[in-house]
Amino acid sequence: MDITVFLGAPGSGKGTQAKRLAQQGGFVHFSTGDILRAAINEKTEVGLKAKGFMDRGELVPDDIMIAIIESALGRTGGKRVLLDGFPRTVPQAEALDKNAKTAVARALYFQVPNPALIARLTGRRVCKNCGEPYHAVTLKPKQDGVCDRCGGPVIQRSDDTEEVVKRRLEVFESQNNKLLAYYEKSRKLKAFDGDRPIEALQKELLRALQ
Ligand code: AMP
Repeated sequence: MDITVFLGAPGSGKGTQAKRLAQQGGFVHFSTGDILRAAINEKTEVGLKAKGFMDRGELVPDDIMIAIIESALGRTGGKRVLLDGFPRTVPQAEALDKNAKTAVARALYFQVPNPALIARLTGRRVCKNCGEPYHAVTLKPKQDGVCDRCGGPVIQRSDDTEEVVKRRLEVFESQNNKLLAYYEKSRKLKAFDGDRPIEALQKELLRALQ
């Protein structure tokens, strides 16, 4: 398996970039946040366990997350893998590398200053059906509240409120340096300026993925 992990704060563009790369073909994209939100909608046992943590902006426990990603990695269809939102802790990173088959090939880190993250997250909108990302000011769907891709309803995530966003950024800060050090040690880390237009960043990512 060829696994690339996208690292960066909530709102740094990991999901947007991974979705676009997957839509162009060649990559399969797994977002642990999307997998958890689907589990909540379907009221599965994992969904019920995860919901409280997510509503508060806290991390879901590692054992639950590692089981989720192991199951996802069984469904790659032979494609190269982009992980968005996993790992978020060093034990999660270690779980991937423990098995030679799922060892991470590269970690791409999206750097975005905090004020830009807050503006992105509080303005973020998303299609409830297909997960296509939008923004209330900078990336509106053609028709108000309707997804351009699938016609589904475009909504605000319940954890994109100002209060929960603040906590999510704190939680990110508390883990990020350890995670960066982990990938730096094995020389897999590459940092990108994520405070740029989507297309410009995508070109650079593609180069790093070649
Ligand atoms: P995201 O959509 O990536 O912003 O994730 C939304 C929420 O899901 C996070 O705030 C966490 O509560 C939870 N979550 C997603 N991925 C992970 C992970 N790898 N480890 C722990 N919690 C996670």
